[in-house]
Order: sequence, then structure tokens, then C-alpha cells
Amino acid sequence: MGIFTIIITLVLGLCIGSFLNVVIYRLPRGESLARPSSHCPKCEHHIAIYDNVPILSYIILRGRCRHCGEKISPRYPLVELANTLLYFLALCLYTPYIFSRNGVDYLSLVTSCLAFSTMLAIFMCDLDNMEIPDELQMTLLVIALVSIIGIPNASDRVYGFLVGGGFFLIFSFLFYLIRHKQGLGFGDVKLMAVLGLFLGLGGTILTIILSCMLSAIILSLITIFKKGGRDREFPFATFIVPCAIFCMAFGSYIVEWYLSLF
Ligand SMILES: [Zn+2]
Repeated sequence: MGIFTIIITLVLGLCIGSFLNVVIYRLPRGESLARPSSHCPKCEHHIAIYDNVPILSYIILRGRCRHCGEKISPRYPLVELANTLLYFLALCLYTPYIFSRNGVDYLSLVTSCLAFSTMLAIFMCDLDNMEIPDELQMTLLVIALVSIIGIPNASDRVYGFLVGGGFFLIFSFLFYLIRHKQGLGFGDVKLMAVLGLFLGLGGTILTIILSCMLSAIILSLITIFKKGGRDREFPFATFIVPCAIFCMAFGSYIVEWYLSLF
């Protein structure tokens, strides 16, 4: 039973990762997710199922279209790999097969896998277009609400929602007052509020601190190495998402350790 759950989860990770590539490309362009089926952007040749196997096809075809030889971006297999690694992380957290000594928590396993996939899509969309599609925010909200069904500390998650959204809302308002321009998009405010529903109060505060630190480090590096980097807009959700995933996985240990110091 154990090995069966692991294999199913990882195969789903690959397949959903492949679907995420479609979502990340088409959703911001307002295109249908169902049609047309996958095709080469250059020769428009339909991509057969045997050439559409996640990661494997990319390796076999050496990253090129079978028909016209056009290079295929390595981001496609990378998104599939990232999604599968996130599902592996969920397996580690919510099943006893790998690390955890508690029983299998199917609800947490499924909701965190779906949440990780949605967050990965948000990360990529923000990186590409500096915008988070509302469909992805709504999907994440629904998953978050399902994930708090029947948990004993639901109020903590609601505090996470209020503090996560509230902090960024106040920050963006103050930034606008002082600098007279938008420092933080409303998409980031909504995202942090919804992530608070997964993270709870402690995890939310930790995510805010880590994502501000991470963005400060990366932006300093950009400013040092690239002229004109300072005034550029930057996709803040790309900092929030990895920090939130880290805190969903390890935040409770860090918060417990911190509180034990007092
Ligand atoms: Zn082609």
C-alpha cells in the first residue's frame, strides 16, 4: 500500500506538472486550456502522446521538436521536475513511508499537492508577466478552505489570513503615501492572505520576514550587477512562493524552536 501511494503521487506529479506548462503559457493569454492540443510553436505540428511524456520525451528528443528540430525550452521539463519534487515533499510531510512517523494524512497530502502545483503556476506566471491570474488565486483559495475542514486549529489559519493580507495591504498603502507609486501589487496582497490560510499565524509572519529578506538580497545583487536594476518593477510573488512552501513544510519547527527560547 505504501509504495503504491508513493508511485501514484509521483506519477501524478509528473502529469500535473506537464499540465501546469499549458496553464502557465495559456492562462495569462486568455487561451483555452483544453484546445488546441499540444503543438510545436514553430511548425505547429501536433505533438503525439509518445512525444509528450513528462521529462522523458525531452531527454529522448534532446530538447528539439521531432518534426522541425526547433529547440524546446528547458523550462518545460524543469516545471515538471519541480512539481514532482514538491509532491515528494508532500509525501515526506504527510505519510509515514518516508520521514514522518504519524499515520497517512490523505486530506493534507492531496490539498498540499494541489496547493504546491497552484503556487508553482503562480510563481511562473508572475516571473513571466508580473501578474497573477485571478483563476489561480481563486483555485488556491478553494484548496485553502478545503484544507482547513475539520482541523482543530482553524482559528490560527484565519489569523494567518488576516495578518498576511493586512500586513501587505498596510505596507502597500504606506509605500504609496511615501513614494507616490505602487510598491506592491494587489495580487501580492491577495496571495499572502490566501497563503495565510495554509500557514497559520506563526508561518505567515515567518513567510513575510523570509520573503522580505530574500527579495532584499536578490534585489541588492541585481542593483550591483545590473545598471538600472533599481527602478525596475519586480515580481514579488516569486519571492513569496518559495518562502511560503518552505514555511508550510518546516515553519512549525522553526516557530516552536523560536518560542522555546523564551
Ligand atoms: Zn516543430
